[in-house]
Order: sequence, then structure tokens, then C-alpha cells
Amino acid sequence: MTLIIDGVKLSNDIKSELKENTAKLIKEKNIKPGLAVLQVGENPASSVYVNSKQKACLELGYHSIVHRISEDASEEEVLSIVNDWNQDDSIHGILVQLPLPKHIDEQKVITSIDPDKDVDGFHPTNVGKLVIGLKGHLPCTPYGIVEMLKRYNIETSGKHTVVVGRSNIVGKPITNLMYQKKEFANSVVTICHSGAKDISIYTKQADILIVAVGVPHLIKKDDIKDGAVIIDVGINRIDFDNEKGYKIVGDVDYDDVFEKASAITPVPGGVGRMTIAMLMQNTYNSAYEKSQRL
Ligand code: NDP
Repeated sequence: MTLIIDGVKLSNDIKSELKENTAKLIKEKNIKPGLAVLQVGENPASSVYVNSKQKACLELGYHSIVHRISEDASEEEVLSIVNDWNQDDSIHGILVQLPLPKHIDEQKVITSIDPDKDVDGFHPTNVGKLVIGLKGHLPCTPYGIVEMLKRYNIETSGKHTVVVGRSNIVGKPITNLMYQKKEFANSVVTICHSGAKDISIYTKQADILIVAVGVPHLIKKDDIKDGAVIIDVGINRIDFDNEKGYKIVGDVDYDDVFEKASAITPVPGGVGRMTIAMLMQNTYNSAYEKSQRL
């Protein structure tokens, strides 16, 4: 029987734990986790993500700031907002919603965030810590994947994990996490990408297959081995004959691979649900760390 790794349940569990811990942190240390989000422009997808982050903050009892500025805002303006938040003691997490308009240097903005408040885990300091196995903020989607493996007690040590996709936000960090000499890691890892002539040569060898590509239904039954654990990160909108005229699917053809896999994350209701939960976790961790320094 194939195990369905339920991101909805897991993310709700994590949020319940965080709600409880937050109430305790407020009561015992008078610290309320605070998340500040900056959105530049009105990209509809970004607005959806920003709204759901704000909703999660309110649900958990966090202090939440959402600042929206015009698409034409200058890089200086963005850097100045980040700088103010860096100095603000009521804010423990800062997130600049990506992508930014072309005239703003994304990397410069990310690097301007105080690494202790970089709850997206994209600052080079946190990336470096991840690579050498030090404690720092982990990027939310890879953090969510590791949490899924942990909470479903999926053995990873000594297994072959194959990652498809090499983005800075998913492919590279999850690759670096999976080979660490740690619990729910310690895998032998292969990473492939569009430069591979035939990705199925690699995907067929995977005990654990993590796909973060952005191509609907790229992975079919013939691309996986019997009993593989499938982690599908992809979120793709495809035309569909329903009220909305579309549906959301992953990078893996769920129905096709289902019987052959031993465990699988659905889309929607899988990794995507974990990403916001882990953002909330990072923000809580940041506030908690601060409470330990007082
Ligand atoms: P990017 O576009 O940044 O990276 C995609 C990667 O896939 C690139 O490394 C690219 O190779 C590789 N690639 C593209 N086509 C192929 C192919 N045919 N064969 C092999 N490799 C290929 O995407 P992201 O990592 O940001 O996102 C990937 C997917 O995950 C998207 O659907 C996105 O919406 C989703 N996502 C979901 C999240 C969640 O919370 N569940 C969070 C973040 C993303 P190359 O480097 O050569 O271009």
C-alpha cells in the first residue's frame, strides 16, 4: 500500500505546536514572534502568498507587518525598509517577497537582511551554515521536506536520494541537507537538471526522489523504481475542464506513479502546505533564540 504523505495534516500539527509555544513565549518572556513581509509591486501570485503568510501569523498569535510598495520603488527604498526592520526589536523575521522588479538587485536585498532575521534562509550566511552543517535558518521548502521525512519516520540514511532541479530555493539546499551526517539525512545524493541528457537514468536509481522543476507531470511510472519515496515540490497550473478552468498539478504524474511508489506527497496538499508552516517555525525559532539571549 502506498503511503500518502499528508502535508495538510503535518502543517496543521506544526502550526498547533507553534501556537502553543507562542502563547508560552509571550506569557513567560513577553516576546511575541514578529514577521515583517515586504511586497514590491502587485504580482497576483505574490499577493496570494503574502496574504497567506499574514493569515498564518494571525492564526498563531504573531505580530505581523505587511508592507506593500509600488513596482517603481527604488532599490534604496527597499534597502531602507529592510534596514529599519533589522533594527526593530519587535520583528524577528524579515521576508522580501520574490521575485523583485528587474531594476532591483535581488541578491543585494537578500544580503542586506540581518542573517538572524532571514527566515527565508536565503542569506549567504545561512546558506553557508547549511552547507557546513551549522545551525541557521533553513530555507522553508527544503526544511519542510526534511520535516515530512522525519515525521513519517522515512529512513534516509544510506539511501540514494536523487534531486531533480538546482534552484537556490529548493534543489541546491535540499541536496545539501540530504547528505549531512545527521538524522533524516545521511543519504548518498545525486542532483540532476536540464543539463542532463536523460534524467531518467538517474531518477530510476532513486530510493528517494525529490522533484523541483516546474514541468507538469514530467516524472512518469517508467522514470521511478519500485518502492521509491516520491517528494513532489512542483506547483503547476494546467488547463482543466472545471469551474475555474484550471487545476494544480505537480512535476510528478501522481496517478501514473502511485502504485509503484512506496510513499508520495500529493499536489496540492503536500510540500506546498509545509512551506508556510516552516516559515512560521523559523520566525518562532528566531524569537525564541532572542529570548535565550536576554
Ligand atoms: P526554478 O525554475 O528556479 O528551477 C527549476 C530547475 O529545474 C532548474 O534547475 C532547471 O534546470 C531544472 N529543469 C527544468 N526543466 C527540466 C527538465 N526538463 N529536466 C530536468 N531539469 C529541469 O524552479 P523552483 O525550484 O523555484 O521551483 C520548481 C517547482 O517547484 C515549480 O513548480 C515551483 O512552483 C515549485 N515550488 C514549490 C514550492 C512549494 O512550496 N511546494 C516552493 C518553491 C517552488 P536549469 O538550472 O538548467 O535551468
